[in-house]
Amino acid sequence: MENIIYLDNAATTRVRAEAAEAMRPYFEAEFGNPSSIYELARNAKRAVETARGEVAAALGAQPTEIYFTGGGSESDNWAIKNIAESYPERGKHIITTEFEHHAVLHACQYMETRGYEATYLPVGTNGVVDPAAVEAAIRPDTALITIMLANNEIGTVQPIAEIAEIAKRRGVLLHTDAVQALGHVPINVKRLGADFLTVAAHKIYGPKGVGALYARKGTKLKPFIHGGAQERGRRAGTENVPGIVGFGVAARLVAEELEREAPREFALRERLVDAVLSAVPDSRLNGDRFKRLPGNANFAFKYIEGESILLLLERHGIFASSGSACTSGSLDPSHVLLAIGMPHGEAHGSLRVTIGRYNTEADIDKLVEVLPGIVRRLRDMSPLH
Ligand SMILES: *Cc1c(COP(=O)(O)O)cnc(C)c1O
Repeated sequence: MENIIYLDNAATTRVRAEAAEAMRPYFEAEFGNPSSIYELARNAKRAVETARGEVAAALGAQPTEIYFTGGGSESDNWAIKNIAESYPERGKHIITTEFEHHAVLHACQYMETRGYEATYLPVGTNGVVDPAAVEAAIRPDTALITIMLANNEIGTVQPIAEIAEIAKRRGVLLHTDAVQALGHVPINVKRLGADFLTVAAHKIYGPKGVGALYARKGTKLKPFIHGGAQERGRRAGTENVPGIVGFGVAARLVAEELEREAPREFALRERLVDAVLSAVPDSRLNGDRFKRLPGNANFAFKYIEGESILLLLERHGIFASSGSACTSGSLDPSHVLLAIGMPHGEAHGSLRVTIGRYNTEADIDKLVEVLPGIVRRLRDMSPLH
């Protein structure tokens, strides 16, 4: 599999060598349980705390504001369900958007079965939430706003700092899912102003199954998993020490490399978008061209199915996506593309290309070389065309 061109970095990323190497000792010689009291355990404990410092630094947070979890989905669920657990005296209304990740959408839908009401804001055709619409949706009983920092399908970046100001002024808590944003746009929780923030390791060249929830000092956070006293009594269970170590290294390195890597990915993305839009008739870029993550391109091709494009791309060793990893395999069109107003028919013909640190100009040129022919061939067979 060494000759593949992997352009699906929003689905997951390859664990970088530095992270894998840092993890290795914690599977083997340093296998101790951080809760035990002998030296072996103290090494594991220290490694977890070093990683907490690294994740905190990458976000501009304090280490005591970081809780390790089993990934982005858990962090999202925890932040949202915590409103009922920690703030029962507040109202029972949540504001979110129509195009959140399913970990947020389905958690909000769950809250609706528990006596909460949720408002799902539309996001407009450019895929960017209007802060004025958020403000207008706030009611006296609104307890939480949960809006993602960057969308996982179309990559659009949301004005979270502006929304945070509104939330603060109106006395509403704000959670943001920053899983896609981390490593691609600068994040500083103090400047952003969110009360809770979700990140995950496997989208930033760290391992799968580990993430974190940032909870601003002064917020209340009740345990989501009950049991032992790990994570200062908030998240029971023996720590995923190797995973956490890998997450720490990955978070430190993406933060260090951001200034160099973001413009590089942006240049590759622009090269791709220009080439595809000029070579393929009836093609379009979904979502705002510039208010988006540097490495994200999401194309609409009329008259054909995204899944068929993927199958033909795979024959050239190119891996991309037709939506989110969670919805592919199902025949439902992407809820994100429907949210930005694409008709059902067209929402099937999308191609998401997400560029990461291992991609080169040669990868983009190969895609640009084969894609127009694939689209032409599929359209020739399409009854819609
Ligand atoms: C991948 C992703 C998640 C889920 O993270 P997991 O670690 O896979 O559970 C949540 N939100 C966004 C925006 C994502 O891209």
